[in-house]
Amino acid sequence: MKHNFGAGPCILPQEVFKAASEAVLDFNGLSILEISHRSPDFVKVMEEARENVKKALDIPKGYTVLFLQGGASLGFLISAMNMAGKHKKAGYINTGAWSTKAIKEAKNAGLEVVEVASSEDKDFSYIPKVDDIPSDIDFLHYTSNNTIAGTQFKSIPDTDVPLVCDMSSDIFSMPIDVSKFDIIYAGAQKNLGPAGATLYIVKESILGKSTVDIPTYLDLQVQHKKDSMFNTPPVFSVFVSNLNLKHLLNNGGVDAMEKKNKEKAELLYNEIDSNPNFEGATAVEDRSLMNVTFRLTDENKKEQFDKLWNEGDIVGLKGHRSVGGYRASMYNALSVESVKALVNIMKSL
Ligand code: PMP
Repeated sequence: MKHNFGAGPCILPQEVFKAASEAVLDFNGLSILEISHRSPDFVKVMEEARENVKKALDIPKGYTVLFLQGGASLGFLISAMNMAGKHKKAGYINTGAWSTKAIKEAKNAGLEVVEVASSEDKDFSYIPKVDDIPSDIDFLHYTSNNTIAGTQFKSIPDTDVPLVCDMSSDIFSMPIDVSKFDIIYAGAQKNLGPAGATLYIVKESILGKSTVDIPTYLDLQVQHKKDSMFNTPPVFSVFVSNLNLKHLLNNGGVDAMEKKNKEKAELLYNEIDSNPNFEGATAVEDRSLMNVTFRLTDENKKEQFDKLWNEGDIVGLKGHRSVGGYRASMYNALSVESVKALVNIMKSL
């Protein structure tokens, strides 16, 4: 077996792959790929998946859970359009490529955008301090984990302004206080399931209050009223996400994941800090537990190191083209053993 450190789509539990493959051949006598999304069997899957998200994140009453399409990239626009209020103005914390794209879409939604804080001055290698949040904005948006740069917010920004968060790359990796947010959205393809579905957790009280015209599909009120079945949903992605959610709930939930993810991150960051061949790419206090970015201290060793990890059955370690170096993504399903395998290879350089 290969050790998959890919940034996404990424590793899921082997048991989930197996159950998913079985359902491709036989799901109550048909293939999961051929059933109608309106069949009682699938409606049950959708309802279970929505409930299991609520269970896994201990979501309080008053929130709806939706599985839509378009990826987090459409989430940039959907969240901005649905949160547009009387100010038609939004605050964004710019912590990297994904936040930058989110800002662009908020502008496309017709909103004025205030960059409340940014770490662009140092190539997004840290999480900026957020101390001056204007009060005349409809919402504040941030990216909880910066998949490319390898930084992560360690706490939720302290504000009375409604909060919107792109949690694509760290949702389900630890407990979160959902009550602090009006909209959380996340592409499925990291800790949730296969690419295709996009998860939305939405405070019901915001629905139908937008001050901009929203195309039907993008209107979260429509999606909520239709129980996440306005049109054909991404059936297979939702099905496998539900398998993965059940697996998560049966294995200690997000508390157990947080413990495991901290253990993995500690192993790898300790090696980066103690091995003179490597250096971390971000501010120490803002390091991501999900995407560990690092570099060689001597680029002349690149060929040798690349050969070692390729021969050691490690895949997906190459850094994002915009950052260079290496990125080890360690989503929930990656085992501690895989991280130990990488650490041993780093020691052997
Ligand atoms: N936001 C974050 C934090 C991401 O990591 C990604 C994808 N890796 C996206 C947004 C874009 O997601 P999608 O490809 O689902 O549109």
